[in-house]
Amino acid sequence: HKDLAYAESLIAETPDYPEPGVLFRDISPMLADPAALREVCAAIVEPFKGQFDIVGGIEARGFLLAGYIAATEGVGMLPIRKAGKLPTPAAAVTYNLEYGSATIEAPGVLKPGERVLLVDDVLATGGTIAAAREIVSQLGAVTIGSAVILELLGLGGREHVGDIHTVFTA
Ligand code: 5GP
Repeated sequence: HKDLAYAESLIAETPDYPEPGVLFRDISPMLADPAALREVCAAIVEPFKGQFDIVGGIEARGFLLAGYIAATEGVGMLPIRKAGKLPTPAAAVTYNLEYGSATIEAPGVLKPGERVLLVDDVLATGGTIAAAREIVSQLGAVTIGSAVILELLGLGGREHVGDIHTVFTA
């Protein structure tokens, strides 16, 4: 698809960020382009259309995608937040990062058995998506799928999270 190939070309690459040896992918130029944003969000949702009640976005860039998808698909949005931002978190999961650990939390807004689609911008090791799935499970809901714009190959993400839908690979 013309617009999808164009969207891929709008993912910027910055060497040695946030630390030496890391090539950081920035979706900002893609978000700024209306056709690219539309086509990428359509591609994220495509395998799951009509199969989810709410879309979960992981702070911070996942929020942008989840908000857009909630609006276009007519579903609600679950913000999965970094620790310490919510007054009354109902679920919390701590997971390992390359250096140290991180905690994500979510509010208790899901109905039992509610069907959740999880979205984020980039899949690296898969730790974040795996933790988000655990959050949904703690909330008594069901993750029916996970999707990211860009899968970074060679970091074991797909092995870690099992089934995941990715629009682009690098
Ligand atoms: P993982 O938990 O899969 O190792 O890392 C994925 C998380 O880190 C995602 O929330 C993603 O936003 C962020 N991340 C890791 N690498 C990159 C990158 O190169 N670019 C962007 N935009 N985010 C990244």
